[in-house]
Amino acid sequence: MRPKILIIYTGGTIGMIEDPVTKSLRPFDFSHLMENVPKVKMLDYDIDNIQFHPPIDSSDMNVEHWQLITRSIADNYDSYDGFVVLHGTDTMAYTASALSFMLGNLNKPVIITGSQLPIGEVRTDGEENLITALQIAADRSEDGIPTVREVAILFENYLWRGNRATKRSADNFNAFKSNNYPALAKIGLGIHFDHDALRKNKSELELMPSYALDTNVMAIDLFPGLNKEVLCHMLATPGIKGIVLRTYGAGNGPTWDWFIDAIRKTVERGVVILNVTQCVNGGVHTNRYLAGDILAATGVISGHDLTFEAAITKMMFLFGLGLDAQGVARRLSEPIAGELSQHPHA
Ligand code: ASP
Repeated sequence: MRPKILIIYTGGTIGMIEDPVTKSLRPFDFSHLMENVPKVKMLDYDIDNIQFHPPIDSSDMNVEHWQLITRSIADNYDSYDGFVVLHGTDTMAYTASALSFMLGNLNKPVIITGSQLPIGEVRTDGEENLITALQIAADRSEDGIPTVREVAILFENYLWRGNRATKRSADNFNAFKSNNYPALAKIGLGIHFDHDALRKNKSELELMPSYALDTNVMAIDLFPGLNKEVLCHMLATPGIKGIVLRTYGAGNGPTWDWFIDAIRKTVERGVVILNVTQCVNGGVHTNRYLAGDILAATGVISGHDLTFEAAITKMMFLFGLGLDAQGVARRLSEPIAGELSQHPHA
């Protein structure tokens, strides 16, 4: 059986071409992309594609686009063995996180990839990334079970869990990293899967797509010098339901009375505040320091080792389900799609 793969081309550098006049990169048509990768035809796969009109720089990515990708996958779910999403690198980790929550009971590969250099350039990484993504999307065990049953990012030498990955370089071909979770596969001469790290979803469950995302969320980054007026202004943002608070180290924040008071009052008003660390590696352990303990006592929820991308999209998703603040606060601590280390394979 030839694998059937659906490519969803959203845009990004992988499909970009240099404007002869301005010399800046602009998106071009997907048919051009296939022309530039004749090797794709050497794979013995049935490949169809869906294209964003127009293709976008992923800096323009929004929840409507995530809904479109989710719908494209859900509508075609039974007809394909796997899905490859071509996407700009800038917001790829946000899209991967959002899709991991929106595609409930996902049991097939959704491999997101892109490139640092346009596919038309001689030294492009796009060709290799596209081909490897297609091969991973087509990979199955002897009894036909897809090897990858989750949303993952394929970039250069690694396959990462989508909701664990972060863009770490604007220049290197290995542009992504998952700081708190092992690679799902290492790509060298061959593709070597880490079967212990891959999600083992139950095959009998039907895909349950969710489309509603609530964007009444925001992020606040702590920094020495953050003043009361600025913080209180942000906490009082009209309509805000959830805040991702990016704290120091193991989840610490200032112990000043005005700061703790402002945070506590915001939580008491029914706003959910989720504590994630500014560190790239490790997570929130609020009982390690008094500064973390005091913050936790205000009712701020620990985000453990969530990436920022997973934290903000998880909030949008949970509020989108129509849950109240208490419901969201509870579900934030429970893994949905393997985004938290406490339950690595949940
Ligand atoms: N600005 C581009 C984008 O995210 C960068 C890339 O594709 O790597 O769409």
